[in-house]
Amino acid sequence: MTQSQSHPEIRDAVRRLCEKFPGEYWREKDRARAYPSEFVAALSENGWLSVLIPEDYGGAGLGLSAACAVLEEIHRSGANGAACHAQMYTMGTLLRHGSEDQKQFYLPKIATGELRLQAFGVTEPTAGTDTTRIETFARRDGEHYIVNGSKIWISRAEHSDLMILLCRTTPRAEASKPSAGMTVLLVDMREAVGNGLSVNPVRTMLNHATTELFFDDLKVPVANRIGEEGEGFRYILDGMNAERILIASECIGDGRFFIDRAAAYAKDRSVFGRPIGANRRPVPHRPRLHPVTSASLMVDHAASLFEAGKPCGSEANMAKLTASEASWFAADVCLQTHGGFGFAEDFDIERKFRETRLYQTAPISTNLILSHVATHVLGLPKSF
Ligand SMILES: Cc1cc2nc3c(=O)[nH]c(=O)nc-3n(C[C@H](O)[C@H](O)[C@H](O)COP(=O)(O)OP(=O)(O)OC[C@H]3O[C@@H](n4cnc5c(N)ncnc54)[C@H](O)[C@@H]3O)c2cc1C
Repeated sequence: MTQSQSHPEIRDAVRRLCEKFPGEYWREKDRARAYPSEFVAALSENGWLSVLIPEDYGGAGLGLSAACAVLEEIHRSGANGAACHAQMYTMGTLLRHGSEDQKQFYLPKIATGELRLQAFGVTEPTAGTDTTRIETFARRDGEHYIVNGSKIWISRAEHSDLMILLCRTTPRAEASKPSAGMTVLLVDMREAVGNGLSVNPVRTMLNHATTELFFDDLKVPVANRIGEEGEGFRYILDGMNAERILIASECIGDGRFFIDRAAAYAKDRSVFGRPIGANRRPVPHRPRLHPVTSASLMVDHAASLFEAGKPCGSEANMAKLTASEASWFAADVCLQTHGGFGFAEDFDIERKFRETRLYQTAPISTNLILSHVATHVLGLPKSF
């Protein structure tokens, strides 16, 4: 079964919800770089952001493919799930490595949307992709950690009540290995902002609510540590496969949005006395659909391995790589098919074009996936 056939009821319900948020809604938000609060609230109220939370903690307890269906349909509709996709999966770190008390306290509130856990603080300006070189440091002081340092590209920090934060608790040079000595803290943003944490928005080419963070003696209770001190890098890595596969589904949704729009326009638009779709180029011919369709099969495959509890690191990475390249290719074809009108805001193509480009850089760049595949699939020497 292909992903486009899976979870038809979920897809149908999400499509109907998205119809209430047409292009004009997203265009206004994009122009103002404003957060789509109404859309996120509607998704939360209808339970679409808690599908991965187990039923015991108030969620729907569904598998990853259901979450993929939700995100794909959001993106296929022309909307942008990046405003809230992290509410679906960031809780995974807490679910897998938090104490039972932490899970009982936070997860039911995250499931209802009363608490938003959709900020994930890893990247730092100097360390970049090399997470082992992060320098934000959490020093133990009695029953608190005192956090100092900075982060960059931390999305939705202004729209989140909680943040998963990766810090060093042992300097890299003193750790048993570069990936040791990092710790995950659950930061309560409602208390932290203005009390040791400042949040500055970073304006980007797309509406993404991303920020830079500065920590100046921020106090975080030791009770808010997730799992063991020093094991944080492993906990963060644990969540990466799910994230890659979910983001890949967003790319598939984008790819299908572009194909739907390009095909419709090619039928309607007449030039030289006939629809442009009657010409050989530049309209989307059947082979042009191929990258998105084949990438969607890769995403299905990775999701089914994940749901079966099988190793899927390489598959998740390859799914994200192929899906992000396929959506970008479809975006280019769609823009070309629309001629000059592709550049007009009112058609939503240029907005989606900007939005889908991100996925070749974040949450992990294409280069780093190629390195992973070279090492883990082809058995080539490590390049870093
Ligand atoms: C809009 C946006 C939202 C984001 N949201 C978040 C978030 O919420 N939380 C968070 O923690 N981070 C977030 N990120 C950060 C994102 O994950 C990083 O930007 C990304 O991982 C790349 O890191 P960098 O920007 O420091 O690039 P760099 O590490 O400086 O890399 C620059 C380029 O060099 C390449 N490169 C680097 N090293 C190698 C190598 N060894 N081999 C081959 N090529 C290499 C990279 O692939 C990249 O193309 C976000 C980024 C953006 C742009």
